[in-house]
Amino acid sequence: MSGGIVIVQTAFPGDVILTGGLVRSVRERWPDLPLAIVVRPDCESIAAMMDSGVEVIVYDKRGVDQGPTGIRRVARAIAEGPWENAIIPHRSPRSAMLARLAGLDLRVGFAVGGHALLLNVRVTYRRGVHEVERNHDLLLALADRIDPESEPTLALPRLILTSEGKEEAGSVFEKLGRRLEPPPFTVLAPGSIWPTKRWLYEHWVILAGWFAQAGLSVVWIGSEEDRESCEQMASSSGTGIPAAGELSWQGTAALLSQAHVLVANDSAPVHLAGSVGCPTVALFGPTVPGFGFGPLGKGSVSMGVRLGCRPCRLHGGRRCPEGHFRCMTDLLPARVLNTSVEVIRSTRGL
Ligand code: SF4
Repeated sequence: MSGGIVIVQTAFPGDVILTGGLVRSVRERWPDLPLAIVVRPDCESIAAMMDSGVEVIVYDKRGVDQGPTGIRRVARAIAEGPWENAIIPHRSPRSAMLARLAGLDLRVGFAVGGHALLLNVRVTYRRGVHEVERNHDLLLALADRIDPESEPTLALPRLILTSEGKEEAGSVFEKLGRRLEPPPFTVLAPGSIWPTKRWLYEHWVILAGWFAQAGLSVVWIGSEEDRESCEQMASSSGTGIPAAGELSWQGTAALLSQAHVLVANDSAPVHLAGSVGCPTVALFGPTVPGFGFGPLGKGSVSMGVRLGCRPCRLHGGRRCPEGHFRCMTDLLPARVLNTSVEVIRSTRGL
């Protein structure tokens, strides 16, 4: 088979991590095929953990590559490479336009939204299945056209830990007491860019305190924006190492690979944990796992409360439209603790 593949995924970090399944499927079926992935600058280090043979192309669509000149520049760079086909999981006109400007023969994406007009292979966006399965539908559609006998198999995202990431995680392990063999610890990720996707501050504080009483150390993670709140939660609960804003994606992946469990909102750390084998308890408020973004790690669990108003938004929002925010207030720390302990028992042991 000739003609390499470019995967265009310039959405959020969580979406890029899930695209790792596509990368693995392509690699397993066609080990020598030229393969590239186009991502935003803040996702470059995630893509670099997927497979050393994958070329990572950065498209800084909101920065230096902004506007028509920028997209043409990146398209020219792609056009010069050995790629003839594009898989575009990102449902965005700009991503589809990039593939078209690059002159890629086949542009496979989902048949939803205005960007579909720029594709020449349109695939049904299946609802109620995981995003990894939807992405695989795109690969099957491409394989049908370029190598009909191939039947690529579905693979889950797996990230390869880097020495830089392990070094960063080591500095956290040192604070836990042992750099090479950290004691049992849990990771808590209380952030989300959407306020309604965040479990309550006081719930996190209670949960952390109970973990500490059970003999499990706590590490608080998140982005730079979460730094202050994580420090406050560590202080209010009297436990945990605040590491939000301290670790790169690679450092966070290395940290999670050693954790007993991650407890997180419906956000990127859930997918990062799944890609390095960390069991996860994922807390869903205004969204539901049925949207296709539930945790994939072995033994992982999704949690939420039954409410007539739920789900209310595809991505969460800034405010609860009902005003009571019961999807998160009624998700009580005791339930989350019990579930977390069960997950740890069934996966890592206590
Ligand atoms: S409307 Fe319901 S699901 Fe949406 S944020 Fe409010 S409580 Fe949560």
